[in-house]
Amino acid sequence: MRLILLGAPGAGKGTVAKLLTAMDGSVQISTGDILRAAVKAGTELGKKAEAAMKAGELVSDDLIMGIMKERLQEADCKNGYLLDGFPRTIPQAEALKGLLLEIGDELDAAVNLNVPRDVILDRLTTRRTCVDCGAIYNVKSNPPKEEGKCDKCGGAVVQRDDETEEAISKRLDVFTEQTAPLVGFYEKEGLLLDINATSSDAVVESIRAHLAK
Ligand code: ADP
Ligand code: ZN
Repeated sequence: MRLILLGAPGAGKGTVAKLLTAMDGSVQISTGDILRAAVKAGTELGKKAEAAMKAGELVSDDLIMGIMKERLQEADCKNGYLLDGFPRTIPQAEALKGLLLEIGDELDAAVNLNVPRDVILDRLTTRRTCVDCGAIYNVKSNPPKEEGKCDKCGGAVVQRDDETEEAISKRLDVFTEQTAPLVGFYEKEGLLLDINATSSDAVVESIRAHLAK
């Protein structure tokens, strides 16, 4: 399957993507994960992206399109992909449309995960992430077995730099202003699948049913 996962920070895009990859061998592509890895490795890309990320602002469209143009042409994309956190602006969505035409790929759907703002806020402040493999935990509902240590890879499980209260509130504003308009964009494209994202399992089931049609 080839899907875009839309939704606010904390809507569950990453969790849903991980469940879906297990179904058909498609890969999860998270621009956030790619950028965090670049920051950690101290690459040119990481240096350019770091300040914006830490402040909860968006990285430039040019930088993101450069990453995605390469990434979508890698061999593992042949079995499909789940775009998590991309596109995030109308210019990115327009550029992606051109890129897909160029490489001859077609999307199955743009899935919008609807989650109430209070649920989002609660999730983001309690979320913890493995610095090595990106596994997601929650201090209340899904803590790692050993505090601060990833169950899967043993890496450090920490609160992200951009998950302070200030950066979270900034990310939600940026989402409302720049990313929420993508719902209208994909509705016009005839690709929108709108889901009330109560549980990740229910979301996966809705997507499966939609694709089977
Ligand atoms: P979230 O949990 O907010 O969805 P992500 O892990 O997707 O977070 O992204 C973290 C940060 O990386 C964003 O706040 C932004 O600075 C940057 N980023 C990720 N994807 C994009 C993108 N497609 N366009 C611009 N900036 C991005
Ligand atoms: Zn890990």
